[in-house]
Amino acid sequence: MRTWERAATPRLPGTGPHPALHDAKTDAPLVVPTDGDASLYTCGITPYDATHIGHAATYLASDTLTRVWLDAGLDVRTAMNSTDVDDPLLERATRDGVDWRALAEREQEVFRADMAALRILPPDSWIAVTERIDAIAAAVAAMLDSGDAYLVDADVYFDTTRERAYPLGFGSRTDRATMLHLAREHGGDPDRAGKRDPLDPLLWRAERPGEPAWESPVGRGRPGWHVECTVIAMAELGAPFTVAAGGIDLRFPHQEMQAHHALALGASLFSVARANAGLVAYQGEKMSKSLGNLVKVRVLLDAGVRPAAIRLALLAHHWRSDWEWTDDDLAVANERLDRWTAWAQVLPDDPSHEDSVLEWLRYTLHHDLDTPAALQAVDAFVGRAPADDVSIDAIDALLGVRLR
Ligand SMILES: [Zn+2]
Repeated sequence: MRTWERAATPRLPGTGPHPALHDAKTDAPLVVPTDGDASLYTCGITPYDATHIGHAATYLASDTLTRVWLDAGLDVRTAMNSTDVDDPLLERATRDGVDWRALAEREQEVFRADMAALRILPPDSWIAVTERIDAIAAAVAAMLDSGDAYLVDADVYFDTTRERAYPLGFGSRTDRATMLHLAREHGGDPDRAGKRDPLDPLLWRAERPGEPAWESPVGRGRPGWHVECTVIAMAELGAPFTVAAGGIDLRFPHQEMQAHHALALGASLFSVARANAGLVAYQGEKMSKSLGNLVKVRVLLDAGVRPAAIRLALLAHHWRSDWEWTDDDLAVANERLDRWTAWAQVLPDDPSHEDSVLEWLRYTLHHDLDTPAALQAVDAFVGRAPADDVSIDAIDALLGVRLR
């Protein structure tokens, strides 16, 4: 479907290094890619409530990785889904008495506007699940054929007990007790009778009264949550692609099941690395729709907060750290943006000077996208050197903040 306007990224002199990214699968830094092309799949929104700061932080991490890859001279391809048919969306539509499609449309439009305002680079493909029902159903049918899936009544489940290239839990570094706990917390149904293993996730949900459903070779119904990302990522990027990204709360069951579905569908590996962004709290609790403690990007923008200040407030925290949003974050970011903007407006007396902040940005960002260190590098540079074109462009291309 339509994405949003892509912010221009200035060309910088030379190329930066390939980044060493923290890989959640091995809990260690990994240089990705080692050569050639780079591809990134980011788990998208369920469009029923406008973008909050936690979402923005996750998509900003993917944006930063994309910017660093582009600066390294790589051919970059990115994809993302939108879970535009799922239980939370349907529940919200019922609660508010609106059509679920209209709700998804509306919230996807808010998301587009928020992402464009924050200058988050759009994915090359943004695919709604309802655009890929046939492909998902075909994948589910293939897993039934191969014995990787089975029926419970008319619902299709994935068989996690089958031996595959690596065991369940390996890629999310979780033991069985943790997996059971997380499955229960994140949309699984470990207690359903008739399953081969409590951890087996739903691949296809047979039609229920009042719920949307599509005709398919596996019966009338709709896709389960994880398989949509497997099918969309493999169709758009192939497998293995370079990095699978999402919030740390997606590591199990969502990302783990995606990867296991891919093995069942014949891939040798789903993604080379897995990137998990930290969670943002507010007022002492993880920001979440269910708790209602959301700081929405739209509300901040409507209150007149500059998008670049929101960006700087987020970039001041490392993408993997869990942190808590406070008013102070915005105050610090506003002050920093004022200082940088004032600096950028003063043209240097000597236009031939060659000092720039570019190499410092490349150095800090290639090390696991260390944006807090990158901001400090710019702070130090702004304090001692005149504004030069290369630095202005580097701050734009790598941090997404345009100062002139
Ligand atoms: Zn996903």
